[in-house]
Amino acid sequence: MHKLHHGNAQVFRVAISVPVFRLFDYLPPENSRAEFARPGVRLEVPFGKGNKIGFLVEISESSELDSSQLKRIVRILDDRPLISAKDLKLLHWASAYYHHPLGDVISTAFPAGLRQGKPATVQTEKCYTLTALGKTIAIDLLNRSPKQKSVLEKLRYPDVSLSASERATWCKSVRPVLKQLIDKQLIQIESAINATIQPSTLIKQAALPGNSQQQAAINAVCASLGRFDVFLLEGVTGSGKTEVYMQIIHAVLKRGQQVLVLLPEITLTPQLEERFRQRFAVNLTVSHSKLTDMQRQSAWLVMQQGTCSIMLGTRSTLFTPLKNPGLIILDEEHDASFKQQEGFRFSARDVAVMRGKLLSIPVLLGSATPSLESLYNIENKRYRLLQLPERAGRALAPTLQLLDIRNKRMQEGLSEPLIIEIQRTLAKQEQVLLFLNRRGFAPTLICHGCGWTARCQRCDANLVIHYDENLLRCHHCGREQRMLNQCPACKTGALTPLGLGTERVEKMLAEFFADKVIVRLDRDSTQRKGTLENFLEQINQGQVDIILGTQMLAKGHHFPNVTLVVILDADSGLFSIDFHASEKLAQLIVQVSGRAGRAEKPGRVILQTRRPEHPLLTTLITQGYKQFAKQALAERKEANLPPFSYQALLRAQAVDAETPQWFLHAISQLAREYCRPGTQILGPVSAPMARRAGLYRFQLLFQNTKRQELHALLDWLMPKIEQLKQSRKVRWSLDVDPVDLY
Ligand code: ADP
Ligand code: ZN
Ligand code: ZN
Repeated sequence: MHKLHHGNAQVFRVAISVPVFRLFDYLPPENSRAEFARPGVRLEVPFGKGNKIGFLVEISESSELDSSQLKRIVRILDDRPLISAKDLKLLHWASAYYHHPLGDVISTAFPAGLRQGKPATVQTEKCYTLTALGKTIAIDLLNRSPKQKSVLEKLRYPDVSLSASERATWCKSVRPVLKQLIDKQLIQIESAINATIQPSTLIKQAALPGNSQQQAAINAVCASLGRFDVFLLEGVTGSGKTEVYMQIIHAVLKRGQQVLVLLPEITLTPQLEERFRQRFAVNLTVSHSKLTDMQRQSAWLVMQQGTCSIMLGTRSTLFTPLKNPGLIILDEEHDASFKQQEGFRFSARDVAVMRGKLLSIPVLLGSATPSLESLYNIENKRYRLLQLPERAGRALAPTLQLLDIRNKRMQEGLSEPLIIEIQRTLAKQEQVLLFLNRRGFAPTLICHGCGWTARCQRCDANLVIHYDENLLRCHHCGREQRMLNQCPACKTGALTPLGLGTERVEKMLAEFFADKVIVRLDRDSTQRKGTLENFLEQINQGQVDIILGTQMLAKGHHFPNVTLVVILDADSGLFSIDFHASEKLAQLIVQVSGRAGRAEKPGRVILQTRRPEHPLLTTLITQGYKQFAKQALAERKEANLPPFSYQALLRAQAVDAETPQWFLHAISQLAREYCRPGTQILGPVSAPMARRAGLYRFQLLFQNTKRQELHALLDWLMPKIEQLKQSRKVRWSLDVDPVDLY
């Protein structure tokens, strides 16, 4: 350690978003009152050939380097840190827990613009307000332009103005409508929302009177406001969870505090946003991947400044700073999208719980199909269970039924009895929803003559047939080639598609139900912006008879006129080697089932299977998700699998197969030298998909029934891994609490 010689000289220790675990030392910038800089402020520092943005971690009086070797900070970007000391502590914790470099972790907490050093300014948006004429004109004069009428009506709610980012939620293709209203001098553009003014009232629409279970849930959480507690709100789709959230949020607002609501990307729909906007008069902001960087930065900053009270956001908004934190809600807590699968691999659910603890606020998790981890945390009394066992209002729960398709005549995946059921439902003018979790036409192209199959050259995977585009496409690396007409191996055999994808089922349905309207919802059919919204609108207006889709259908959307839900292939997922698969399958089945009969019409769910005795399916059908979860937890306990043990997965990949194996082998050797036994070291083995995008993939799994022991080993191991000379020749990553072993 070199003490610095000059009187009060200081060393700034800086975290920079680069893939190394250490901090970097700098001298304070010239001519600045550096002593006022606080941990968390952004700094511009010379790094390599250019400059980078870093974050001040601490100010020290000494450095391991001699001061002559230290470079000077170029400038300090913030007068005060944009994140609080407690949140900074959270980021330190997350860096240590996930064994991920601090610079990258802190970086993740900031929106892209701020991360790149842009000034912390909120974008002022154009916004539309009523003119004097617009306020007074008889609304019926617009009867012949219903869209204009509806926008004008909405603007007449007290305290309402329409900002550019909200526009889309008001009605479809609202731009021309606004233009027409401006031309009629009914509305005007005002320069900017003054986001510093919070409306005087909190809500503009009264809450629904809660049923007794809803009330109990609301009371329990409200009694914990102001201190840390974790709740799990378990309720089937349609049981009134969102209503419970909104009433608790109201209580938080009354305390002058803010709420962060985290949701999976697909459930963060304009409809949900609209529901919140209808209820609450306070400023509300939304943040997800479809917004611009500037919009996300503005959303982040208005929460940080406290001028906005509610944020609806996806995983990446978990770290949004809150001036007056009051509550974190995480809906669909079982959803895999809450785990970041690349870079800083954190679980938004687990970090949210830790954040609640550090901020001394309650955390509310919600799901119809809670994760086994959360149910286990209920069992060991770390979380508190709140239940909504019935559907709210008059909706009835759907009935589930297994349809044994062994030896049944099948037409493109549909058995005869199923076709009859579909016909009956359609005859009653009700909608049918078909679920198949595989897009494309067919997952395999095979030669009938010699057995050749179309494989991806860069992955251990078949190419999927996309007939509409006349392509073969790899769903793992995205590689495409033209559809083949001739077998490249034997040149004579006929090429036939094998297996089922949504495109293929759609074609069959179109032939079979020629007079019906069919909509396919999957990633291919909804690629263009706005198509999904259009489809959903058509469905809800009853213009669609049959809805076919992938797991895009499983969440969030309300299809009140659907009375028959069909899971075409309930067996896929029963035989995966990943122990998480059965939990995910059960959740998916229940979630898809939840689409049926949401209104007064009772729904039915039919699952086609060739394994009607499979315990997972029978338990789920006859005894429900809770009982399934109980059995699955018992099996996990028996096998010492999470949540009864803790795992960390080290992945490595390279262009050849040897290097990642050597690398992982060296690490497993090292780990065996570690003096405290107890951690199982499994591997190295090749990944379930051994090659992907041209890289060979291997993995090494660590498992221990004691979390602390596992982490002690990782703490010891990580610096050593960095120093291994093979570590530079492979791409490697550590995944703590992996949810996907692939
Ligand atoms: P979830 O979030 O669990 O799917 P929602 O909160 O969206 O459930 O409620 C489902 C439907 O029931 C909504 O249309 C909602 O307005 C209605 N609802 C919820 N709570 C009540 C209640 N206490 N009384 C009447 N209707 C309710
Ligand atoms: Zn062939
Ligand atoms: Zn591929």
